[in-house]
Amino acid sequence: MSATLFTNVTIFEGTKPKCEPGEVLVEGDRITRVATGRKQLPRDSGVEVIDGAGKTLMPGLVNPHCHFTYNDAVSLADITALPVEENMLVTMRNAATYLDHGFTAVIGMASAKPRLELVARNAINKGQFPGPRILACTPEYTVSGGVGDDSRLDRFVPSIGLVCNGAEEFRKSVRQMIREGVDIVKFNNAGDSFTFGKVGGECNPMTEDEVRAICETTLNLGKRVAAHAHADSGVRQCIKYGVEFINHATFATDATIELLAKHANKHFVTPAIAARYNTTYEAQAWGITEEVATQIGNKRELEAGCENMQKMHKAGIRVLPFGDYGFAWIPIGTDCRDLEHMVNLFGLQPWEALRAATAYGGEAWAGSSGELLGRIKAGYLADLLLVDGDPIKEITLLQDKNRIPGVMKGGVFHRRAL
Ligand SMILES: [Zn+2]
Repeated sequence: MSATLFTNVTIFEGTKPKCEPGEVLVEGDRITRVATGRKQLPRDSGVEVIDGAGKTLMPGLVNPHCHFTYNDAVSLADITALPVEENMLVTMRNAATYLDHGFTAVIGMASAKPRLELVARNAINKGQFPGPRILACTPEYTVSGGVGDDSRLDRFVPSIGLVCNGAEEFRKSVRQMIREGVDIVKFNNAGDSFTFGKVGGECNPMTEDEVRAICETTLNLGKRVAAHAHADSGVRQCIKYGVEFINHATFATDATIELLAKHANKHFVTPAIAARYNTTYEAQAWGITEEVATQIGNKRELEAGCENMQKMHKAGIRVLPFGDYGFAWIPIGTDCRDLEHMVNLFGLQPWEALRAATAYGGEAWAGSSGELLGRIKAGYLADLLLVDGDPIKEITLLQDKNRIPGVMKGGVFHRRAL
């Protein structure tokens, strides 16, 4: 069994407000011992000692709302237009990009085509390609006219989602996708500003029967559920039917937030705020001025979302960073901008944003599996980053991958530029 001892490092443990000096022993794919302060771990023969030269050792990042099958296009239609073969190559390139940027685990949150995410997961698990640990998702399930269905009566438009109507159609399709091997089933029980003019974020186009059918079928088969839920009624359904991954939660009312807080240990909220902030303020080059963003309702989603995330964080709900990167103005690889957004827009302390990106992300990835990741603690998977500087003092630091000279996944270095 390989063994690596990190000495002379400053440890960000994942849940603590401050870094502290220490040493960490990795044996096989796990962290087996941690010493802090002046304590030292034994230098046994056969253990490779790595002098961290004062760098920060922190848990690998977990992206809980990841679109690693997207090709940084300007619209969903442009992603859908990509043939499956090219899309598979894009997916494997993105997986490598995520690991390069310090993401050692990602949770797929809607595959651009049915089998992309699960094929990527399987190939990476076999060691055939570099990439993070992956939970593979279905394409997003939607209803006629919902987010992801742009067809008209006179013109069929291929969808990025799986379009079903009625409980029976959903049951059949969900069973098929689970047969194919997905870990997560995602559905859209809200509209979005990106589908301006059809169904807005406040609307929920799915019936109670349809949502119940998706959730019951998925949970009965032992898989996990995610929902694109801007609308208040959508968030309510997530609580009622056991949807762990609540995307956006933009228009949840105070009463719904209170209810969600009572079940806080069962849910993770991923606002994907960059798809609001960057779209409102930084997408002019693609024709989306602040005026356009206001007109389509994107700016309103930003403002309502920020207000809600502040409330949810205060109520003890796990609000997680990252999400919806993979478009032209929020390209894959720039995801760590979200940590800055959490501090500036949601009022989190920098260490709280980092906790959300590591320890909470690890809890989200593991679910009820009993797996341990996202912290520097004995027994946890050795998914680790060596970082040039203190990310608590400099929350923008992780945006520059050149300042992450060490990336280790499961006890094996992906990058080692020490
Ligand atoms: Zn998304």
